Amino acid sequence: MQEYVLALGANLGDREYYIGQAIEAIRTSCGPILRQSRLLETEAMGAADRPFLNGALVIQSPLTPAALLQELLQIEKNLGRTRETRWGNRTIDLDIILWKDERGDFPSVKTPTLTIPHPELHKRLFVLEPAVEVAADWRHEEKQRTLAELLREKQKSG
Ligand code: AMP
Repeated sequence: MQEYVLALGANLGDREYYIGQAIEAIRTSCGPILRQSRLLETEAMGAADRPFLNGALVIQSPLTPAALLQELLQIEKNLGRTRETRWGNRTIDLDIILWKDERGDFPSVKTPTLTIPHPELHKRLFVLEPAVEVAADWRHEEKQRTLAELLREKQKSG
């Protein structure tokens, strides 16, 4: 069955609690969790002004990418995320990072509401570090790099 790497982030209230709740909701409505990274504390960025906890999961899921995105948006909503500012503080942020289909390929998706691989993936240490813990050898085909290679390059370039 197909698998996805998801990124999780939280920077408001009890961050561990929101991440734990999100993981439980993902397990229930999206599919089983195959691997889970440690949680990493990272500095605020964009319009956010408090540090984040970030993590990553590999899940198995029968959902299409579009259906998975809808589930993740619903989970964010249920956990009280508001969307006043882009890049602002949030109780929970859930992103689809990479998709591995039934054949073991890593297809890309480009629609007005969904881009896979996630467009910021290669620019963000706080996404790459946890993602490499759970899926080091998954490939970003457009960049012809594995996640581990993207992390190494990002660490070198700063
Ligand atoms: P954000 O403020 O990062 O949570 O943006 C959420 C919006 O980004 C969603 O409503 C999606 O339509 C869009 N989006 C595009 N690509 C992705 C992706 N790979 N994962 C999650 N959201 C995405």
